[in-house]
Amino acid sequence: MGNTANEFTEQEQMLDEPRSGLREWLQRTSLQDMVVSHHHSRDFNGSRAEYIYLRVRLLSFVFALLAPLWIPIDLVLLSGASFQQMLLLRLSFSGLFLALGLWTTQPHSLALARLRVALFIGIPGLFYIGSRLVLGGEAHDTGVLMGYSFLPYLVVSLLALFPFALIEGLAYAITIGLVVVGTELLFGTLFTVRAFSEIWLLGLLASIAMWAELAQLHMLLQLYREATRDALTGLVNRAVLTKWLDLEVERARDTQRPLSVLLLDLDMFKRINDTYGHLAGDLVLQVFARLMIREMPGINLIGRYGGEEFLAILPGKGEQQALELANRIRAACHKARVRGPDEQSIGFTVSIGVATLQPQEDTEALLLRVDKGLYRAKEAGRDLAVMA
Ligand code: GH3
Ligand code: MG
Ligand code: MG
Repeated sequence: MGNTANEFTEQEQMLDEPRSGLREWLQRTSLQDMVVSHHHSRDFNGSRAEYIYLRVRLLSFVFALLAPLWIPIDLVLLSGASFQQMLLLRLSFSGLFLALGLWTTQPHSLALARLRVALFIGIPGLFYIGSRLVLGGEAHDTGVLMGYSFLPYLVVSLLALFPFALIEGLAYAITIGLVVVGTELLFGTLFTVRAFSEIWLLGLLASIAMWAELAQLHMLLQLYREATRDALTGLVNRAVLTKWLDLEVERARDTQRPLSVLLLDLDMFKRINDTYGHLAGDLVLQVFARLMIREMPGINLIGRYGGEEFLAILPGKGEQQALELANRIRAACHKARVRGPDEQSIGFTVSIGVATLQPQEDTEALLLRVDKGLYRAKEAGRDLAVMA
């Protein structure tokens, strides 16, 4: 079969380089994804934001409810003036948490989710400083402060309920640490054995909480990726594609920018399977997926729509540009070769439906139209791109 050295470049690259699809993101999961979140997909960030939002909401209601229950204890333990100030502090604490729990704006925004957590630790922080100011002198010896000084520990431990990246977890833990250190400094008690042991315990709890935060993030990412990725090609699956397409259609309408889609179906693929076996067919699918990524730089909305069908979403691209891209992929297929089980050189072609979003058209109508384009390409003899 006269294979030249670089005939299978596409396949070789795919097998050698770790930066291909599935393997790439499995490897990347380990470190970078745990430290910061800019490599997480928009979709994942939205889901994580909602998860954080729901937890802040629930905990806020719990705090809003529990705080007033301490009032009878204050009544017994505190003197008249202190009691009144504490009452005011306690009611504000409860009210602020109620407001935080009732705040429902944009549950899918990660920035707002982070702000919510900041408020979630900020409110007890203020309460803690306030209570130290009110109780000032009558604190330590009577043991009254017991009921207040545990607050930073409680908050730092509760952070363990959130799926945070390392940077996020550190930022929140440090904020709480600064509140405690600042308060001790304010009262001139920072350099005491008690303050030292408190800060040590806080650090210990914060470390355990961060471990739990990372473990949650890791699990969430793994589950998310397994549920949204196609294991063979590493591309996203149909469920994600449909969701993305809905979002892009909405965005195109809002911004008045063009939006095109390509529906790509490998030609006579059954014959490749029948002739060279399913493993060779799988390789063709992997090579084709890689080829699409290479030929459409900057387009990251490419997914496996079904068996040997793929969908590419092209935001900002009009009819002409979309058709050009489609033909570029077709041409690249002519050059690509996959090595068969007996060293055969397997070539393949693709038929492509192209459609650009029309005014008044919805996602479903667009998909129906692009499918018609693909059908016409098959009818007209395959290895064609047809504008629908
Ligand atoms: P056409 O040009 O009209 O598209 O013909 P075709 O043979 O490509 O289309 P058909 O729908 O008849 O066959 C698609 C084949 O794709 C059948 C199925 O066995 C194969 N297929 C689907 N998913 C996979 C996969 O993950 N791996 C392999 N090896 N084959 C697959
Ligand atoms: Mg086919
Ligand atoms: Mg098909």
